[in-house]
Amino acid sequence: MNNIAVIGTGYVGLVSGACFSEFGRRVVCMDVDGQKIENLKNGILPIYEQGLSDIVQKNVRSGRLSFTTDYKFAVESAEVIFIAVGTPPREDGSADLQYVLSAARSIAENMNGYKVIVDKSTVPIGTGQKVKQVISETLKERGESGEYDFDVVSNPEFLREGSALGDFLRPDRIVIGSESERAAGIMREVYRALYINNHPFVFTNIETAEMIKYASNAFLATKITFVNEIANLCEAVGADVKHVSKAVGLDKRVGRYFLHAGAGYGGSCFPKDTSALVSIGDDCGVNMSVVRSVIKANDAQKLRMVDKIIGGMGDVCGRTIAILGLAFKPETDDMREAPALTLISELNKRGAKLKVYDPVAMGFARKHYFDDIDELSYAGDEYDAMEGADAAVLVTEWNQFRTLDFARMGRIMRGNYFFDLRNVYEPAHVESKGFKYFGVGR
Ligand code: NAD
Repeated sequence: MNNIAVIGTGYVGLVSGACFSEFGRRVVCMDVDGQKIENLKNGILPIYEQGLSDIVQKNVRSGRLSFTTDYKFAVESAEVIFIAVGTPPREDGSADLQYVLSAARSIAENMNGYKVIVDKSTVPIGTGQKVKQVISETLKERGESGEYDFDVVSNPEFLREGSALGDFLRPDRIVIGSESERAAGIMREVYRALYINNHPFVFTNIETAEMIKYASNAFLATKITFVNEIANLCEAVGADVKHVSKAVGLDKRVGRYFLHAGAGYGGSCFPKDTSALVSIGDDCGVNMSVVRSVIKANDAQKLRMVDKIIGGMGDVCGRTIAILGLAFKPETDDMREAPALTLISELNKRGAKLKVYDPVAMGFARKHYFDDIDELSYAGDEYDAMEGADAAVLVTEWNQFRTLDFARMGRIMRGNYFFDLRNVYEPAHVESKGFKYFGVGR
């Protein structure tokens, strides 16, 4: 039985570690953030992800899952070491590999035998070879280059925040990029629970595995952006994008997922991964023109939502706007690149007063965002946000925003503008309650 170490306890590392322990593996999760590890030891999770707390607690109790800041302990106790640290975008859009390479160095400094070092972070093509080089050089510095054998594997992660556990435990596919039969066999063993259940595996080389992740995310970002553009045209010609999406998506060659028009994609992956792919193309002399256009169109879509609100209300200066939802999508507290950020910043620049509410991202918002926004207040719930507001803007389609009480809103709001940036409601229903309805592409 291979013991596992996971380096980095963010969305990917913590979910992976918890799920591997759920598969019956002994797992140690390691992070350089001492506070995060201290909290985890006390049962406090750094992220919101449904069901995660339960499986973390269960596996900690069973002794299969533990947390540490000690590289030596993590590396020595494991045969398979996953790198799941962040790869944020640099100023020029390329992926910043400093955390991945620093993790690789720390692993090599503490190696005490054969290890499989698995890159789970999303990394540019060629990073696996860089990781290999850093490890070899570090072992050489230690004077132990011939001493310890190791293999580097690429195993990109496809989980979605908000449904991360289900995605990890029942994945569409598992991609393993490896140059060694031995490492591929160990990876098959690590994922044995899924392998015996016939989940599809793709065994390939390291570069292809790295490419698969970027190609997947860029395709999904393109699909969303395509339907957003169709939505914009629908508005101009009097068509309804919801019906267009449904009918187009019923074509099996297209598929119905990721065809919902809205405020533009956000989150910690699509924006940075599309930028990184363009940058990788530039480095190789390949113009990634489709992805480049997607990035531009998505930025424009977020701003288009601002224009929609201003166009609908006339002037927003001095008016109060309730923002329902801050997270980039429901069931997560992640606000990285969320459309709400563009909306809030742009509306604030134009003199609007914002009242914001999100079911789980409020703590995150207070801690990391909006210090520079005057005239922003945090509400206790969605109705508190809408109390006295001139307009309500549904930005994130949390379930509790899907059954709003428009009669109550009519009583507590000052104005009657309702901007449904996720097309949750039927226009006729909202209008029948005395509201002016603005959706996307209808
Ligand atoms: P995150 O920012 O939530 O967490 C990264 C963690 O790594 C942090 O806790 C940080 O303290 C730790 N860390 C940084 N440097 C370290 C080091 N040298 N040693 C040990 N720990 C270190 O990141 P995330 O969202 O989990 O993403 C991790 C990677 O997975 C990224 O490459 C991302 O693109 C990819 N990914 C993310 C998702 C997602 O939904 N978030 C999905 C698939 C893939």
